[in-house]
Amino acid sequence: MDSADYTEVALRLANAELTDVESVRAALHDEPWWADRLRESDLPLLREVAGGLRRALAAMVAGPGHAQDETVRSEINALLGTHPPRPRLSGHGGHDDVPNWHVHVAGPDAPAVDEVVAAAAWGLAQGVVHHGTRRWGRCQAEGCGTYFLDTSTNQAKRFCSPRCANRVHVAAFRARKRS
Ligand SMILES: [Zn+2]
Repeated sequence: MDSADYTEVALRLANAELTDVESVRAALHDEPWWADRLRESDLPLLREVAGGLRRALAAMVAGPGHAQDETVRSEINALLGTHPPRPRLSGHGGHDDVPNWHVHVAGPDAPAVDEVVAAAAWGLAQGVVHHGTRRWGRCQAEGCGTYFLDTSTNQAKRFCSPRCANRVHVAAFRARKRS
């Protein structure tokens, strides 16, 4: 994983429903190594960390401003302080005797949840370092509210996905036809 992947983990956890362990596994499906090892008993910690991620993201979406920057800094630093990344170089998953070199953010024997929350905290911090606080958005489709990082050049992204954009455009088209 690199910084961009960790930022993606932060967004996935922030946007996860966290109603049960299946919903977390669905949200982290790109990382089956973690997803399969998460337990129902990890949910309180995941909810707590997702809450901090959401408060930081909400401040970035509401910003810019000094107060928002302060919230972003304090929320992310609180997460990093409680769930510090503990980087470990690993070579597992390679083939033909060539190690697949990568860094884990928790020791090899740590529970999966420890690595997930450390990766999310680290990922949001790295996201702010690389993109600042003004490129974060929240989907404007009714009932969605998914947080996203807008890396487009014109920074005009309003929806999390083509699906939400289409939904809103179809609804607007129907409303115009009715009136
Ligand atoms: Zn959406």
